[in-house]
Amino acid sequence: MEDSYKHKGMRRRLIQKLREKGIMDQSVLQVMEQIPRHVFFEKAFLEHAYQDKAFPIGHGQTISQPFTVAFQTELLKVKAGDKILEIGTGSGYQAAVLVSLGAKVYTIEYQKPLYLKTKEFLPELGYSPFFFYGDGSKGLAAHAPYDKIIVTAGAPTVPTALLSQLVEGGILVIPVGDNEVQKMLRLTKISNKKIEKEVFTDFSFVPLKGESGWK
Ligand code: SAM
Repeated sequence: MEDSYKHKGMRRRLIQKLREKGIMDQSVLQVMEQIPRHVFFEKAFLEHAYQDKAFPIGHGQTISQPFTVAFQTELLKVKAGDKILEIGTGSGYQAAVLVSLGAKVYTIEYQKPLYLKTKEFLPELGYSPFFFYGDGSKGLAAHAPYDKIIVTAGAPTVPTALLSQLVEGGILVIPVGDNEVQKMLRLTKISNKKIEKEVFTDFSFVPLKGESGWK
């Protein structure tokens, strides 16, 4: 699908909106201005691609709202070369943002059809994280530890496995709450015994399923 002047113009306006809503990290805004979000949409829904809203991607799941992607990515403080685990691959858009920031990305998805679809589609666009199928509420121990972990589905509590799979100084960004509203949390692992917790604003995510998610 082509990336026309019209798409680029709409993307610029969307990025301006994110700035007005408080996103300050220039590198996050820059990569989001580069990535053509409309290619993650079916042709019939193209006009929704540059609105600041979540959108269904099938299998009862959504591509997160651009503001949410920008907010979570900003909280992660991504540095080039960071090893990052993303839980909830979905459309692959968030993974594309992280890869574009120079991170080495491991992404895991619970729903097989979505995993298969995105694993094929995203590398065709030039973004190549490592794809995994399974229950990310347990993390991905085989490739731990990670510098950063981002959870893109709403969790009932913070899964302890995720904290144990972070390096010292590592960051976990995760929405935690009930089925409707979750607070965004940033947990920094100062040491094995000390976790610093910061609480941010409310969001509304689809539920994190699995062993340490919603049953
Ligand atoms: N990051 C995605 C994107 O950029 O499009 C948005 C993801 S969507 C809001 C949440 C995703 O988390 C869904 O695809 C859902 O199937 C997945 N999910 C839910 N529970 C999971 C689990 N335990 N492990 C891995 N993925 C999970």
